[in-house]
Amino acid sequence: MRGRRTKCYLLAIVLSITVMLPAMGAAAGGLTTSATPCSTPPSNQAQSPIVIEPSFTLLPASKQISFYYPAFSPVVENTGREIEIFENVSEPPSLGKVTVNHVDYYLEQFHFHSNAEHHLKFSHQPAVEYPLEIHFVHKEAPDPSNPNKVRGTVVVAVFIEAGSASGELATIFDNLPTVPHTTYTLNDVINLNYLIPEGTFYQYKGSLTTPDYCEGVQWYVFEEPITLTAAHIQNLKAIYPNNDRAIQDRNNRVIYRGSH
Ligand SMILES: [Zn+2]
Repeated sequence: MRGRRTKCYLLAIVLSITVMLPAMGAAAGGLTTSATPCSTPPSNQAQSPIVIEPSFTLLPASKQISFYYPAFSPVVENTGREIEIFENVSEPPSLGKVTVNHVDYYLEQFHFHSNAEHHLKFSHQPAVEYPLEIHFVHKEAPDPSNPNKVRGTVVVAVFIEAGSASGELATIFDNLPTVPHTTYTLNDVINLNYLIPEGTFYQYKGSLTTPDYCEGVQWYVFEEPITLTAAHIQNLKAIYPNNDRAIQDRNNRVIYRGSH
């Protein structure tokens, strides 16, 4: 697995604690809040998370995903429900995005669930449940000529298990904001390419896993976990031990298998 590197200079990093500005959270994310009404309201037929049963249905070319993740300066927020990370709005935007079927979906934020929300079920084996899951939330840009157009959502899910330290996340997990509704800005950049595993992923159509559970979300769930130290995982669980939604019915939805 790629993505292991040591960034010794991070040890000298200075963290500036700031009080969260409500507008900042809304501008940076908002997807996990109920501020924006669902473009595709819940039908209870296509909800997330689900048990991923590895599929032999190959991903069609129209669902292939490409990543464009320039390094950026992050803000770390305790939202009161989860630990969320987004770009420092005082910096030039990195315009990190994924592309699916020639459409760009821009990264709004990423956050962590404890325990993992999706489960992996290999045949004749108990379902695998990892301690944490990252959600990278992307949204299609607004169309100025068609403001009523439904903006698509792509969420990339990556599991975390205990193991070696993460060079990209170590400083953040050493300094998680324990007080709800506080943020700090990391005086360094992080490169999310190191957090996306190589290998197999699974794609299906589902929903957000927080209110209002909007459907129409394109999910990309990576099979191979990345690692954090057990101590870092515990740091997050000490703040949010159970912010995972229960498994939802799959309802015969197709799960595609792709490779990154
Ligand atoms: Zn999530």
